[in-house]
Amino acid sequence: MTRTSPIGGRQASPDTPTRTEEALELRADPDDIAHLVCCRDDEWRLGFCGAPGEYLNFAAETVCTMCVEVAEQRLPGCFDNDPMRCPNDHLPCPDLTDVYLRAMDLTDGGTS
Ligand SMILES: [Zn+2]
Ligand SMILES: [Zn+2]
Repeated sequence: MTRTSPIGGRQASPDTPTRTEEALELRADPDDIAHLVCCRDDEWRLGFCGAPGEYLNFAAETVCTMCVEVAEQRLPGCFDNDPMRCPNDHLPCPDLTDVYLRAMDLTDGGTS
């Protein structure tokens, strides 16, 4: 279990308009592949591997191997630390509760 934040990749649907300023969608799809973003990034819209994220998916059971590779390159052994250290700023990642709160913020928490 990592403490970075999983985001989902772009789905292959050409008619989906590009949404930039709107809240992220929250999904629960265990079959999805999650990309990793820095928990402290201003926006969770680009995974470590460069894949665009258009929704959050905390249920994904598979993590993008390229994201893991990039994270290990930036900070070797970052996944072995507890609490995990962020590969971007080398600081301990915030509590999972904080990450969820942030996620609720970014997704409007279903209040809109
Ligand atoms: Zn990725
Ligand atoms: Zn971080």
